[in-house]
Amino acid sequence: MVSFCELCGNSIQTPKNVIIDGSIFNVCLSCSKRGKPYEPNQPSKKTQPSKKPLPSKNLSIPVSQKKPIKVYHPKAIPITDEKILRPDFGKIIREARMKKGITQENVANQLSEKITLYKKIETGGIKPNDILSKKLERYLGIQLYENLVEDNENEDD
Ligand SMILES: [Zn+2]
Repeated sequence: MVSFCELCGNSIQTPKNVIIDGSIFNVCLSCSKRGKPYEPNQPSKKTQPSKKPLPSKNLSIPVSQKKPIKVYHPKAIPITDEKILRPDFGKIIREARMKKGITQENVANQLSEKITLYKKIETGGIKPNDILSKKLERYLGIQLYENLVEDNENEDD
């Protein structure tokens, strides 16, 4: 029995049923590409009988595929934990202040601190707390903290 393609009219040995614009056409192989394949055995109703657990063969990922993520920044060291106040902080502060040519009152006023407290800090009697140290460092352009960890990357000028 010889069929004829409903699209091109050629005789076809193995007719294909395709859906074009919602209608089923009996077409040849080449014309079947122009429509959606019509499959009468599979109703379009979406009835999934039961939840089938997906076969997961890739449950265990080989370790070799995991990229080791190194979050290690040797330069990023928390200030308060890893750095210590230099023992000669008072001297550093005093010399920096004198370089700027300002008085103890100037610094105390600038940092909103009591002059008595500042004087004690400058003589080394009282250690400035973290916040005050930071203010002093910024205002006087000095470094009051030094690394506990020995720095091997020291570059000598
Ligand atoms: Zn055809």
